[in-house]
Amino acid sequence: MARIAILTCSNCTQESNCASVVCLGDMRKRKGFFERYKNEDKVDLIGIISCSGCPTLAAPEKILKRVRALANYRINALHFSFCMTALCPFVKKYQKIIQEAYPELTIVLGTHTPKDREAFRRDMKELLCPTVHKVQDMNDVIIGNLRRTDEQKG
Ligand code: SF4
Ligand code: SF4
Repeated sequence: MARIAILTCSNCTQESNCASVVCLGDMRKRKGFFERYKNEDKVDLIGIISCSGCPTLAAPEKILKRVRALANYRINALHFSFCMTALCPFVKKYQKIIQEAYPELTIVLGTHTPKDREAFRRDMKELLCPTVHKVQDMNDVIIGNLRRTDEQKG
């Protein structure tokens, strides 16, 4: 049995209201980066937590506070969410810091089946810019309903 946890990007989950539904859907179906568990009888999701937020250049080690909240429960693998791998400039740094602190832990760089990274970054720019759209969130990205600035002008 695999005991896993997911670390997400707080820009996506907190500011953009993503409830991690796509990550969890692919986990249930053993798709994307969860395919590695296709021969496991059970995948136990121990927890999900977002990163500790930007900026972290001064103290990237603060990510360990978040990871500790999961690692204390004997997880075998920690998945960085797709959004984190697509957006975060600290992925490699986080990976190194976490791996040094938890050498037995398998770190998996992804969750659901990867989307087009450039398109996802463009969508996130739309969501995170507070002067453009105030009422859209991650669900609009997931269902392909995101209104763009140039469309509104047209
Ligand atoms: S970009 Fe990186 S540090 Fe910033 S919120 Fe996302 S995962 Fe956290
Ligand atoms: S990878 Fe996608 S579904 Fe998972 S937390 Fe990030 S934005 Fe949400």
